Amino acid sequence: MWTVASYVIRQKLAGRKQYPLVLMLEPLFRCNLACAGCGKIQYPAHILKKDLSPEECFRAVDECGAPMVSIPGGEPLMHPEIDKIVEGLVARRKYIYLCTNALLLKEKINLFKPSKYLTFSVHLDGQREEHDLAVCREGGYDIAVDAVKEALKRGFRVTTNTTLFDGANPKSVRAFFDEMMDLGVEGMMLSPGYSYDKAPDQKHFLGRARTRRMFRAILSNRKKNWQFNLSPLFLEFLMGKRTYPCTPWGMPTYNVFGWQKPCYLLQDGYAESFKELIETTEWQNYGTESGNPACANCMVHSGYEASAVNATFSSLEGFLATVKATLFTKYEDKEALRMLDEPEAPVNPLIQISPGASHDLQETRA
Ligand code: SF4
Repeated sequence: MWTVASYVIRQKLAGRKQYPLVLMLEPLFRCNLACAGCGKIQYPAHILKKDLSPEECFRAVDECGAPMVSIPGGEPLMHPEIDKIVEGLVARRKYIYLCTNALLLKEKINLFKPSKYLTFSVHLDGQREEHDLAVCREGGYDIAVDAVKEALKRGFRVTTNTTLFDGANPKSVRAFFDEMMDLGVEGMMLSPGYSYDKAPDQKHFLGRARTRRMFRAILSNRKKNWQFNLSPLFLEFLMGKRTYPCTPWGMPTYNVFGWQKPCYLLQDGYAESFKELIETTEWQNYGTESGNPACANCMVHSGYEASAVNATFSSLEGFLATVKATLFTKYEDKEALRMLDEPEAPVNPLIQISPGASHDLQETRA
C-alpha cells in the first residue's frame, strides 16, 4: 500500500494525468482451461504458440514503470521461462501478481522462491460447483484449493481473483469468501465479467444495473474478517455507491502483439512503445461516458480500479472516504440482506470450448 501511495503521490506532484498503476503483462495466450467467459484463448494456433521472451517482458516493464505487474494470460505457468520472468521482475522490485488457475502450481512451485514481491493470484470463481462450472472443468476447484494450501505452507503470498457473471448466487459468493479466509489467503480480488464478443458463452454477462445490484447484495453487511485486495472505493463503485470514469491507461496491457489499445479488453490496434500507446490512443473514445458501445456495460477491475485509486489521491474528500471505508464502514443494508434470500435464477447452460479448437462447441450442462 505504501509503495502504491508514494508512487501515485509522485505522479501527482509531477503533474502526470495519465500514469500506469499496474502493467498487465500477458506473456502468452495458451491455457490449459477453456473457460466459457474467456476472450483470450480464441486466437489461431500460430498465435497461441507464441511466447514473450523474458527480455521482451523486462523491456516492457522498464518502459512502463508501473510499480505492480500482473501476469495473466493464458496460463502463465505454461510459459517455458516463467521462472526467469518472475526472477527478473523481483530483481526490479516490482510487486508481481502471477494470475494462475493453479492446475500446474503444485508441479511448478519449486521454480519459485517466496518473496514479498511475488503473489500467486489464484483464479477461483466461487465455491466448488460454481467454479467448476465457470471454468468448464470438473475437479478444478479441488486442484486449485490444494495448490493454494501447498503455496501457503511453503510461505508464498496467495490471493484469489474471482470473476462474477450473471446468475452468480450472492449467498454462495459470501460463503466462498468465508472459505477463502479460512484457507488463509491474504486477500480476494473481484471483478464482474466483461462481455468479450469472442467468448463462446454470451448469455451470462452483466449489464451495469445488474452488476451494481449483485455486488450490493454480496458486499453489504460485510464480515469483519473478509480481506479484499482492492481499493475500498472500487468496491463501493461496484456496489453503485460511486461513479468513476474509466482510466484505461491505469492498467496498460503488453502482449505478443505489442502495447494493446486502449485496455486489457479491447483491441483497437497496437503501439510499439508505451510512450506511443499513451500519446496516440484516442482516450476520449473510451469509457462508459464516451458512448462507445464496447464500453457500455463495462465495470471491470482493469478499467476502474485505477480510477478509484486515483480518486483516493486526488482530493482530501477521496482520501477521507478511503480511510472511512477501510476502517469504519460496515455497509449495513437491510434491503441487501433481503436480496440474499431471493430465489436463485435458473442456471443456463455454459458452453465448453476445447483448447485449440474454439469452433468446436458443445453444451456441458443443461
Ligand atoms: S470501459 Fe472497459 S472496455 Fe472500455 S476502455 Fe474502459 S476498461 Fe476498456
